[in-house]
Amino acid sequence: MEERYDFKKVEERWQRLWQESKTFKVTEDPAKPKYYCLEMFPYPSGRIHMGHVRNYSIGDVISRYKRMRGFNVLHPMGWDSFGLPAENAAIKHGTHPAKWTLENIAFMRDKQLKRLGLSYDWDREVTTCLEEYYRWNQWLFIKMYERGLAYKKLSYVNWCPSCNTVLANEQVEDGLCWRCSSVVQHKELEQWFFKITAYAEELLAYTDKLTGWPERVLTMQRNWIGKSVGVEVDFSVEGVGEKLAIFTTRPDTLYGVTFMSIAPEHPMLESLIKGKREADDVRAFVQRVMREDKAARTDEAHEKEGIFTGAYAVNPLNNERVPVWVGNFVLMEYGTGAIMSVPAHDQRDFEFAKKYTIPVRVVIQNAEKNLDPATMKEAYIAEGTMVNSGPFDGTPNGKGKEAVADYVERKKTGRRTVNWRLRDWGISRQRYWGTPIPIIYCEKCGVVPVAEKNLPVKLPTDVALTGKGQSPLAESKSFRETTCPTCGGKARRETDTMDTFVDSSWYFLRYCSPRDDKAPFDKKAAGYWMSVDQYIGGIEHAVLHLLYARFFTKVIRDLGLFNGDEPFLNLLTQGMVIKDGAKMSKSKGNVVDPDFILTKYGADTARLFSLFAAPPERDLEWSDQGVDGAYRFLHRVWAIVYRHSRDVLNVKPAGAEARGDRLYRKTHLTIKKVTEDIEREFHFNTAISALMEMVNEMYDYTTDGVSTDLQRAVLRSAIDTLTLLISPFAPHFAEELWASTGHPAHIANEPWPQHDPEAIKASEVTIIVQVNGKVRSKLTLPAGTSDKDAEAAALADPKVKEFTRGNPPKKVVVVQGKLVNVVV
Ligand SMILES: [Zn+2]
Ligand SMILES: [Zn+2]
Repeated sequence: MEERYDFKKVEERWQRLWQESKTFKVTEDPAKPKYYCLEMFPYPSGRIHMGHVRNYSIGDVISRYKRMRGFNVLHPMGWDSFGLPAENAAIKHGTHPAKWTLENIAFMRDKQLKRLGLSYDWDREVTTCLEEYYRWNQWLFIKMYERGLAYKKLSYVNWCPSCNTVLANEQVEDGLCWRCSSVVQHKELEQWFFKITAYAEELLAYTDKLTGWPERVLTMQRNWIGKSVGVEVDFSVEGVGEKLAIFTTRPDTLYGVTFMSIAPEHPMLESLIKGKREADDVRAFVQRVMREDKAARTDEAHEKEGIFTGAYAVNPLNNERVPVWVGNFVLMEYGTGAIMSVPAHDQRDFEFAKKYTIPVRVVIQNAEKNLDPATMKEAYIAEGTMVNSGPFDGTPNGKGKEAVADYVERKKTGRRTVNWRLRDWGISRQRYWGTPIPIIYCEKCGVVPVAEKNLPVKLPTDVALTGKGQSPLAESKSFRETTCPTCGGKARRETDTMDTFVDSSWYFLRYCSPRDDKAPFDKKAAGYWMSVDQYIGGIEHAVLHLLYARFFTKVIRDLGLFNGDEPFLNLLTQGMVIKDGAKMSKSKGNVVDPDFILTKYGADTARLFSLFAAPPERDLEWSDQGVDGAYRFLHRVWAIVYRHSRDVLNVKPAGAEARGDRLYRKTHLTIKKVTEDIEREFHFNTAISALMEMVNEMYDYTTDGVSTDLQRAVLRSAIDTLTLLISPFAPHFAEELWASTGHPAHIANEPWPQHDPEAIKASEVTIIVQVNGKVRSKLTLPAGTSDKDAEAAALADPKVKEFTRGNPPKKVVVVQGKLVNVVV
């Protein structure tokens, strides 16, 4: 064994050996329980960052641990490799997106990820921008089209009038084009949609079954799906033939409506303002609001703004005229694009009414009967009794909801309805670097899907990316022009590509049989591996990616390809890596490059630090001292093993005969603690702490050398155990120590140690003795000492006697096995 821990040599050697012996290659083995551990695959931007290091280190500890526990572990990695940055690089530097992407992948895989010693089965690498993958996106699209789950409709896009092109949301910066700073407009285009709403009910219902997901993520999914049960009510509008329909979940407050708010995009707007003196101001307001981001508009913190249209609606319940406003917080996508506003009982409406001096009317009175619009400081949203509500006065509002809904339906001015916030998923992108949508338009036959045998529809290479003009694929004549698969006549191809979220919606299935060229994946292989036992990734994917992946899994199930309902059984959303109090970012100048750490300290230190500094779900604060501490810890372990490597070389590890020995006991306590911490929500930080404590104990134990056979055997088992326990965290390091202490096999293939319950039964316990809550002494007592005996021992302690001075104490509190507090 070498005296010095040379991480570079050690890490290179073991990465080579693992690769040569294909240590982490897996195949389906029905004899073994399977475990599928998956980290969200990265976009090949060119460099990994510390967030990746953390994400993959977490997944790697879990995978290696489960392997040692006897599971057949699938732990794959791949590339979410279609997307805008490659196209932007092409526009800026003239490199083809394929070249840029594949070079980035090669660099990140070979020069970065492989240096981290991650236990991936690289033979299963999946790259979504390759034909072998995206042809199955197209195949799935056609299956969905055949079932009515893919369809076309008009929808708004961001449009730059001077580049004459559609912009992705990321290309719109403060309402301006990222390239030329023109004001971005909204334009309607025919676009493809996936009918995710057909699965809304099931996607919602299953959130209750995903017990291995963080509650926070489930809540975000539920809110996004946004089921609400309520009533749609028709308000007539003075001087306008059409009725204005609103949706409300609070029909009990219908008598409290003092104004209406409609979305700036509402189709009735023009007829409302026609001939009104407010018309021009309203149009200017609408133009301005339409440029704002929709998500921001509905954000609670966003400034609520509105303008009176000059029009009045009539409340069908009490025939009152109420003014109609346009509000920036109303979206056309939700409900009917119009809402009734009840400021007394809705906080947003309340603030809006105060801002624009609109009347407030209480229609739900509280138990104290003291709600008065003149003195209210906020909306009253709790239960109460209906007042100012015509025939419903005196009705408890809970009952009132049903009663008013009945009444509205009887009067035929409205109907009960269920409303969803979830919209169908628009997948058309007017971009180049994505999966071509496999559709052909024929003058005679209309919309015709590409025949399966003609897949893939390949991305053409003769496309000049300029960032201007129509969809890049439309520029390629050879791509655009084709013949109709049905009638053989002249036809043109769809030139839009798919949203890249399509790629990541089923890649976890592809890993099960990544080279399958007959199907998106092999049903039997997926039957063995799926579902993913542990999925790990950032909270920023809590809504869209996870929801789309759940949707695809259900569609694929209904296509008969897979017998499961959900893709991910357990989800871990790791926190961010922050430095100086902020997320690492170029603009803040607080980025730590993983390459720097890998070169200066090595992968095992980088891994150990990122696992030790915080539990996985919390944010990790970068600390140079922390990295240094992890590095020193590895050296400390190396040093003690080196010092005793000869003492223990041909010694058999201790067994039951060593049960009274304190290092033997510590060894088994540590096995128990580390195992429990990993099993208990992956608390790697406390597991690593326990390893550090054990190393301290080993130093203590060996201060005066090891002389007896028993001591040598105990030390041998301590070294072996420590090496095994540390191996998921610092795998190269552990392999090297394992080999250096005479083990012929790789540690990656060793079983996880088991603790000896007899060895850890405490023979003695330490009891803290307090007087009036202050620590005054410590007692060492036999384990299991009764409270009475512990009390007697505490009172007999000379330090305690100084305070009691022979008098009986006022009170004694005993915490079994831990503490005695004497009150004098
Ligand atoms: Zn532009
Ligand atoms: Zn045709």
